[in-house]
Parts: sequence; C-alpha cells; structure tokens
Amino acid sequence: MATLDIKFVPDPVLRRKARPVSQVDARIQRLLDDMLETMYASQGVGLAAPQVGISQRVIVVDIGEGPIRVVNPKLTLLGDEEELATEGCLSIPGVVGDVWRSLRISVRGLDEQGRPLKLQAEGFLARAFQHEVDHLDGVLFVDKASDIRPVTTEDEPEEPAEDLEEGAPRAQTARSA
Ligand code: ZN
Repeated sequence: MATLDIKFVPDPVLRRKARPVSQVDARIQRLLDDMLETMYASQGVGLAAPQVGISQRVIVVDIGEGPIRVVNPKLTLLGDEEELATEGCLSIPGVVGDVWRSLRISVRGLDEQGRPLKLQAEGFLARAFQHEVDHLDGVLFVDKASDIRPVTTEDEPEEPAEDLEEGAPRAQTARSA
C-alpha cells in the first residue's frame, strides 16, 4: 500500500462529476487500499477518489468502527430527519462548518470484490457517506455549510469525557473526510 497525494481546493478534479467504475479489478482494489492508507495517515474518517486526483466513483469510510470500501455508491435517504453537525474536509484544510445531513441512509454499491453491497447507516456514519458521495458529484461541504470558520481547538476531535453520563449528548466535534 502507498499513501497518495491529496488534492486541495481549487483543484478542478474536486469539481468534476466522477465516472462509474465498470469493473472492480486489481487496480481498483489497490486504489481502495491506498485510499484507506492515505485517509488514516491524514486522520480522516472518509475519502473519495477525486480527493486523490482520480475521477472515479470510489469511496472509503472509517469512523473508528472499521474500514468500509464502496465502489459506485448510491445513497437513499431514509426518512425526513436531519441533523446539524460540524464537518471538515481533507481537501479544504483549516476550516470547518455546520452542515445539515440526513440522519439515516442506506448505501448500495459494490464491495472490493465487485460483489453487491448494501448497508444502512445513521448519525455520524451516515454523515460521512453523504460527504463522500457529494465529492463524487463535485460537491464540497462548504457549498452546503453555514458558519464556515477557521479550525479552533474547540473543533478538534476529543476523546469522550470519562465522566460523560450515559446517553448524554457528546460534545460536537469536527472530523475531516
Ligand atoms: Zn471531503
């Protein structure tokens, strides 16, 4: 595996609509693995292929529950509930903003073996998928965000506090994807 160079705004590849993958072959498998390594090296929670300069519909996500690789992802929003939370983007370093996202989604696509994949996600995982699929359509979080601001320590990810009561809302943190 290798880490890849992340593309930053205003690189035009970030605004292009990415092409579907016609076949999940060794090149795509390698891309998925390299994207995961790149994402972990940058302490991100998601990465889309355009962010490494490849305009194809390939994403990886890991919010700390294990890696998920999806080729040609299609999202379905489940229900009307939305949630506002802070996001950042590895391609737009130094800023965060607040974005409304659907609370629950389902994702269909292909896994790293080219087999059909379907999963449901909610909360932060659902948010990460929506952020990554937006990348495949040339959409960046700053297009949807309010209160775009420089990153401050308050927005840095934190470990959940030891004395956090069960069920208490967690401090809102921003993680980049
Ligand atoms: Zn991003």
